[in-house]
Amino acid sequence: MSVRVRYAPSPTGMQHIGGIRTALFNYFFARANGGKFILRIEDTDRERYQEEALQDLYDTLKWLGTEWDEGPDKGGDYGPYVQSQRTELYREYARQLVESGHAYYCFCTSDRLDKLRKDQKENKKEASGYDRKCRNLSRSEIDDYEREGIKPVIRLKVPLEGETVFQDHILGRIKKKNKDVSPDPVLLKSDGFPTYHLANVIDDHFMEITHIMRAQEWLPSGPIHIILYKAFGWEPPVYCHLPMVMGKDGQKLSKRHGSTAVRDFIAKGYLPEAVTNYISLIGWAYDDSREFFTREELEELFTIDKLNKAPGVFDYKKLDWFNGQYIRRKSDEELKELVLPYLEKAGFVSSPVTIIENELLDSLMPLVKERLKVLSDITEVAGFLFRDITHYNAADVIPKKMDAARTAEVLTLMRERIAKVIDLPEEDADNRFKEFAEELGIKFGDLMMPFRVAVTGTRMSPPLIASVKLLGLEKTYTRVDRVIELLKNEV
Ligand code: GLU
Repeated sequence: MSVRVRYAPSPTGMQHIGGIRTALFNYFFARANGGKFILRIEDTDRERYQEEALQDLYDTLKWLGTEWDEGPDKGGDYGPYVQSQRTELYREYARQLVESGHAYYCFCTSDRLDKLRKDQKENKKEASGYDRKCRNLSRSEIDDYEREGIKPVIRLKVPLEGETVFQDHILGRIKKKNKDVSPDPVLLKSDGFPTYHLANVIDDHFMEITHIMRAQEWLPSGPIHIILYKAFGWEPPVYCHLPMVMGKDGQKLSKRHGSTAVRDFIAKGYLPEAVTNYISLIGWAYDDSREFFTREELEELFTIDKLNKAPGVFDYKKLDWFNGQYIRRKSDEELKELVLPYLEKAGFVSSPVTIIENELLDSLMPLVKERLKVLSDITEVAGFLFRDITHYNAADVIPKKMDAARTAEVLTLMRERIAKVIDLPEEDADNRFKEFAEELGIKFGDLMMPFRVAVTGTRMSPPLIASVKLLGLEKTYTRVDRVIELLKNEV
């Protein structure tokens, strides 16, 4: 049996970390088994449908490099399967269920259902949900409703007794008493659109899906789907409900922990290979130690047997670390291309870049590579080269054990010396400064930091000598003089 899996998002919101984890696991599983990865847009909830979400889905999958393998032919190309284009199929099969006695027409108005819900809430009755009023309507009652012009929904007849059992590859045996299954969920709405349950089961069947890998929040739908498979007389696929994605505090990952929308990560400058690598470790592990995986490796090594039962933790700091590691693996040329949009957006370079700017960027890349966690950090780390520093933070300039006057003195001395060391390699220059700090009886850091902040405006700049070289001595002097002046005013 060849593996066929699907990612079946509903375009009701932006793609998020949990969603792409599901997409990637399905994709890797298909690749590792020479199977097919299917994309199916579950867009039958027309009220919650968002055009923007659909575009975001395509953009995200493209960014991740996860291409789907089949779909309806669109003239040489294939699109994904789209449920709203398949409604006739769902209608036909819903009618078939009514005929075989596994589903029924329900004419209850939304007013009645609202009132029912309200009453149930007030009485805190144990039984909640639909009261199955229409479950046993006679033919003549149905005719009467139809004559009134009421459009019915079709509901599933959930068995009143017994239990529904299925096997989950990760969680083991899942059992639910039928009396605890939601009473008679709607399968086909009065507008003729199917609900998630109906369309999902019909599509998984006809698309010959072998494994359903989806988030654990869908587990409660499991018994309903199994009842549906039985009603149709179909064999259900293998279920794999994926472990939850948690924040570091053990709560379900949500906006409270930070951004979860993939497009925010893209905008900040996370690399797809870092995100792919890190996300593949949430709820899955190859062995006890290995952390780095390229996409190609995951396409070979991924197995559902290594999926965890226990929730996985999404740690933003760890992702930053991975991203930094992947940034370091880029060549200078690649990195330049990647950071360019951020520099352009900040107005630091022209678009297209001039020859001089390009040379500056070439020299800059090796200096910043180790300092970037995300690509957008470039404007912070290298901003001093492109813009004037308008604000100095006294606490950053003046070392803890020194006062403003002493700092001004030290800066003046550094200003005199810098020209002499500028052509030395960074390490030799540092050694000179170390000796100098000793002569002055101050710490090396207390000598360097005020100068670094004066020249670059931040304590986090690239190596000092290299930074001065890129900035040029003239600008360096102007900046140092300005800080000396400010310090004098502090006294
Ligand atoms: N449309 C559902 C979603 O948005 C699919 C759940 C499933 O995979 O069955 O996640």
